Amino acid sequence: MICVSIACGSHKRMISEMAGLAEAGIRLVELRLDFLRKAPDLGRLLPNRPLPVIVTVRRKQDGGLWSYDEEKRMVLLRTAIISGVDYVDIEADVAAKVPRYGKTKRLISYHNFEKVPEDLDALYEKILRQTDPDVIKIAVTPRSVSDLLRLFAFMKKVNVPGQGKPTVVIGMGEIGFPTRVLGRKYGVPMTYATFSPQRLVTPGIPYYKTLRDEYRYEKIDAETEVYGVIADPIAHSLSPLIHNAAFKEAGLNKVYLPFRVPAGEAGQLIDNASSLDLRGLSVTIPHKSDVIGKMTRLDPAVEEIGACNTIVFRDNAIFGYNTDYMASALCIETVMKGGEETDSPLAGKQVLLLGAGGAGKAVAYGLLKKGARVTITDRKPEKAEQAAQRLGCSFCDWDARKSYVARLIVNCTSVGMFPEVDQTPIGPESIRNGMFVFDAVYNPEQTYLLRLARQKGATPISGLDMFIGQACLQFRLFTGQGTSASMIRELLKEALALSRS
Ligand code: NAP
Repeated sequence: MICVSIACGSHKRMISEMAGLAEAGIRLVELRLDFLRKAPDLGRLLPNRPLPVIVTVRRKQDGGLWSYDEEKRMVLLRTAIISGVDYVDIEADVAAKVPRYGKTKRLISYHNFEKVPEDLDALYEKILRQTDPDVIKIAVTPRSVSDLLRLFAFMKKVNVPGQGKPTVVIGMGEIGFPTRVLGRKYGVPMTYATFSPQRLVTPGIPYYKTLRDEYRYEKIDAETEVYGVIADPIAHSLSPLIHNAAFKEAGLNKVYLPFRVPAGEAGQLIDNASSLDLRGLSVTIPHKSDVIGKMTRLDPAVEEIGACNTIVFRDNAIFGYNTDYMASALCIETVMKGGEETDSPLAGKQVLLLGAGGAGKAVAYGLLKKGARVTITDRKPEKAEQAAQRLGCSFCDWDARKSYVARLIVNCTSVGMFPEVDQTPIGPESIRNGMFVFDAVYNPEQTYLLRLARQKGATPISGLDMFIGQACLQFRLFTGQGTSASMIRELLKEALALSRS
């Protein structure tokens, strides 16, 4: 069940948000009384409530805003119980001070904003034995993949049907986010969400509409297969939006999650994939090279490029692929062909490729496969040289890019990416009428470089097409099915516009 936390400053607003959520089909809300600007008035909030309520008055030490004294808080919690509220949230260390009464259920909570305590089992047993709980809530902060895995193992153990008490286990922060969605797969009775995306009541709490409509939380069950993207940073990844929408459209019982995995920790998640029922991963910065050693079957392109952006766990094997190279070559070729049925227009063409990072090597590989003559450059000359040696193409100095004569210029640096939208990795003097310019940067879709290209009479090719293409290829690798590129394009355009507003 999704429990929406209502955390606003006025009673009037709290009442109207409760009504709105009841109408939207939400079945439980948490009233965060510590957010109210005036002293909480339970007589206004509880009598005509349209749906079951948890009353919470969070102390500052537990991430709340309660500014009155502790005795007043205790009185408020006891009054809520006497008023017959459905649940009252009581912190484990003060549980003995708030006795059970009537039908009100006791949700005994523990918060740790620093870490995942070493002995979760002992903590759980203590709460279970000493605090008279109906529901237990343990919200802690994972700092590593190892913490996250420990939390998943714990939530499975404490939610065995018929044993103990229903236990809500939450990993706070970005690393913990998957626990908020996947808990349902492992019997966790509910998860918390926020009423509005702007109101982050606790670190990492999702917006209830995202949880309900994008992650389809209510549809998750023990059979749901898990996919995700591993990256650091992860916050702006659009992959969950795309893949969850594609799973939904195809009617598949699969969910796709953002896993924030710090550098050097991807291997640990891959080693433990089966414990999370992980079936596939998108891989991005900084893991594209590191994960290669973990693959048991490699697409030869991955070895040649030195970067893997897609992992599939199947038949006890771990398959590594790279969909960037195929998608970029295809979208560049499609524009260059201009609708004509010809052999690859890239064959024999001179290409100047800027940036020898993960995307640069993959795009260069795809173009070389099509017969293009690629020259790589990077502001770090040794990186360009190493990439060129690996791929079997030429390289040039970063300064030489300005006078390089090419049929196609490709930007695979991150220059021009939001928010630095007025930057370009190459000036207008290097762009000529009749040439093609591809920009791997897709946020914004119309980069400064692409606008310069148009002004100079060159044909611009957007990185958004590559992004959509690589996602479609990944979806096929994950599911064996195709998906709608136009649906993904619409979603992305909307999300990118929102991210810049
Ligand atoms: P990466 O491995 O971190 O490489 C970043 C590249 O950008 C490096 O070559 C880096 O040069 C260069 N760079 C960064 N700042 C620069 C500056 N101020 N001047 C010159 N060069 C600079 O990242 P990546 O995965 O290759 O991604 C690169 C870009 O491609 C990103 O914008 C990413 O969003 C985009 N991308 C798009 C798609 C798509 O589907 N459209 C897919 C993947 C990536 P140094 O080596 O000198 O640091």
